[in-house]
Order: sequence, then C-alpha cells, then structure tokens
Amino acid sequence: MILLDRVSKQYGKKGAALDRISLHVEAKEFVVIVGESGAGKSTLLKILTREEKPSSGKIIIGGIDYERLKDKDVPFLRRKIGTIFQDFKLLPGKTVFENVAFALEIIGMSNRQIKHTVPKVLDLVGMKGKEDNYPHELSGGERQRVAIARAVVRQPKILIADEPTGNLDPKHAWDVIQVLEKINKHGTTVLLTTHNMDIVNRLKRRVVTIKDGKVVADRARAGYAGKERVR
Ligand code: ADP
Repeated sequence: MILLDRVSKQYGKKGAALDRISLHVEAKEFVVIVGESGAGKSTLLKILTREEKPSSGKIIIGGIDYERLKDKDVPFLRRKIGTIFQDFKLLPGKTVFENVAFALEIIGMSNRQIKHTVPKVLDLVGMKGKEDNYPHELSGGERQRVAIARAVVRQPKILIADEPTGNLDPKHAWDVIQVLEKINKHGTTVLLTTHNMDIVNRLKRRVVTIKDGKVVADRARAGYAGKERVR
C-alpha cells in the first residue's frame, strides 16, 4: 500500500529532515509513528500527501508512483488519502452535517447521495444526533470525530492522523483512538503520529520510531503479523 525507498528531504541548506527513509506498510495495517519534535514525522506525512516533494528516493502509494505523478493528478491522489490534524480544521460556520457534506460537494456528489452517505459516516464515528450542532458546541473529542468522518467519507484507502489527540484529555484521546481502530477494521490503512506513550502502549500496534530523519526502530506488536525488526 505504501512503499518508501530511501526517501530524503532537505529544506534549503539545512541538514536532512528525512535521511534515506525506507518503509513498507501493507494494506489495512495500523502503524504508529513516534519520534521527538523535529524528528521528521510531519515531513514524512507531508511527502505522502504531496504537500512536499522529496529531494530523492522513490515513493509508491496504492500503485501510484510519485515520480510519474503530475500536478494535475494530485487531487486524485488526495482522494485516496484522508487526513486529520491536532487542531481539527473544521469550518466554524458549518454544522457537523455540513462539514462532512462539504467533502462530498467538492467532488460533485448529488444532494441525494450526500443525504444518504453523511448519516452513515456520522454513525460510524459516534456522532449521530449531533448533525445540526456547530463545532463550537462540541467537545474536542467530538470535533475530532467529526474531522475523522470528513476524512473518511470519500472512502480513502489511507487515513493519516497527525497528532490527532494532541489537544485532548486522556479520556477523549482514547475515544478518538478507538474510532481510528474502527476505521482500520473497516479496511483503511491508518498512519498515526503521537507523542503520547500511553496510547502507544495501549494500542499494541506496529511502532516506527523516527530520529534525526531516520527510522531507528520498527517494532511489531501483538495483533500485527509482520516481522519484528529493530535497526
Ligand atoms: P516533527 O514532525 O517530527 O516534529 P518535522 O518534520 O516538522 O518534525 O521537522 C523535521 C526537521 O525539518 C526539523 O529540523 C525542522 O526544523 C525542519 N523543517 C520542517 N519543515 C520545514 C520547512 N518548511 N522549512 C525548513 N525546515 C523545515
């Protein structure tokens, strides 16, 4: 599903933000990416969503070879990848329903289909009954669940969650993680970055540790059938 082969990224004349990262993520895997601030996690995610281009190395995602990807094809790539962030990025003037519906309107889905699809995804993230609320009327955990609904409503193959629990208290943080696990069980590959070691330990998923732009450990956990390897 995701293949990175010796991917490096240099911003200007600074040292490498990513230094020959190689990573293989299977379809339907749930991978936690950890590392101190400045390790290169965000750069890695931005390269996957094509917000940044690598300085060198090969990237293939869902059969798309980034070397051959034209700028006009980037929106097509982004439909395959949903993203959520620490600060939710909901539209404050739109209701819960409208925030999720907007992701479908911009790809030209009919109103009838939108009315059919949005309630299903709001139910999936546990936000049924809050359709008409505005973001400011919701808790942080609820806002993040709406953001997840918006990210997955177009059924992306991959969900990238960049510090999604950074603004949440432990209870809400764990609620959000459980929604991510549910999305993963439905067949979506999930990449999660977090600083929260409680979450890492409770999740029992594959953990990739990044330091100074390099993968320094890649550990399988119970429930993940891949190989155990520590570099
Ligand atoms: P993390 O997400 O793990 O905190 P980042 O990917 O944000 O790490 O940063 C990795 C390194 O790249 C850091 O040294 C950071 O200062 C640098 N960096 C990140 N983004 C930029 C940018 N747009 N321009 C210049 N340097 C950047």
